[in-house]
Amino acid sequence: MDFYRMSQQYDELNIERYLNSIDDQDVINAINKQHLNELDYLALLSPSADKYLEQMAKRARELTIQHFGRTIGLYTPLYLADYCVNQCAYCSFNSQQQFKRNKLTLQDLEKEAGAISKTGLKHILVLTGESRSKTPVSYIKECIVLLKKYFSSISIEIYPLDVEEYKELVDVGVDGLTIYQEVYNEEIYRQVHLKGPKKDYHYRLNAAERGCVAGMRSVNIGTLLGLGDFYSEAFYTGLHANYLQTKYIDVEVGVSLPRLRPFKGAFQPRTTVSDQQLVQMMLALRLYLPRVGINISTRETAKLRDAILPLGVTKMSAGVSTKVGGHSGNEEASNQFDISDERSVEEMMEMIYQNNYQPVLKDWHLFR
Ligand code: SF4
Repeated sequence: MDFYRMSQQYDELNIERYLNSIDDQDVINAINKQHLNELDYLALLSPSADKYLEQMAKRARELTIQHFGRTIGLYTPLYLADYCVNQCAYCSFNSQQQFKRNKLTLQDLEKEAGAISKTGLKHILVLTGESRSKTPVSYIKECIVLLKKYFSSISIEIYPLDVEEYKELVDVGVDGLTIYQEVYNEEIYRQVHLKGPKKDYHYRLNAAERGCVAGMRSVNIGTLLGLGDFYSEAFYTGLHANYLQTKYIDVEVGVSLPRLRPFKGAFQPRTTVSDQQLVQMMLALRLYLPRVGINISTRETAKLRDAILPLGVTKMSAGVSTKVGGHSGNEEASNQFDISDERSVEEMMEMIYQNNYQPVLKDWHLFR
């Protein structure tokens, strides 16, 4: 049974009505339970849990230290190209946007890799838009082979692939896959993905699982907060992570909690996810899935990232540029979206030390 069919058992659940039925005792029970079920997770996401955030934070902190120690993994994104055939209403790389598109040559990539590796980072996340003609799997493979000279862990955030294609990338050294569903609600998914292959909801939804089957060491999922209803999106994200973690026990499953950020375009988020809701989702996830990785990116402000560091986060991006060639000084390219926290890797490390945590620049090495 795939995740879609598994999640259909909740089709009859009226989430709004259920949330309204949750009382204080349900929340307290969920906080104190050793093993939470899906409905406990929903109780922790509910408005009734608002006044228990401190208790949730205490428990989340204990569980995070128990499973991950006092560590924060650092990585940075590296954009290979910004060509894209899709029309996602919320993204600057949308094919309708007029700007000069870029794609790194292997020479450009070497410069970019050199600039990043000087910061000490050993983990990177390689990104492209979706264009099988401009950035075919063969090109991505060539890039990975080059990047392996500089980095010990390479994750990809690219268009969804078949299992065999993921395997090809695993074989040349990719060990992590990030793929956001963007929005679990199928109707909204149709509305915000106007044209292009990304319109295929099911192919995207099953991509995380195909990555697990292909042998990815880590798989990271997420919903783009603001596109759909907060409660149901947070709920289905947790269900999806639990599904993958239970079925693929050797895969390190992670969840990102990205909120929509300003970009070139007129799209307005359907909902605004507050700081408090973001934190509540993170705490609820930690209590529900103590072993899941939690990633908070530079979409969030430095102030918020500092405040939530000890509460459940396991990974953060640092020294970020969301443009092609941005690490080696390409000023002409366009950002995919604006970031909030512009701190360098060094500044992030300093902040993490000041919080009595340890920044981890390398925690994995693939010997081949
Ligand atoms: S979100 Fe990805 S697929 Fe959609 S327009 Fe942007 S780059 Fe293309």
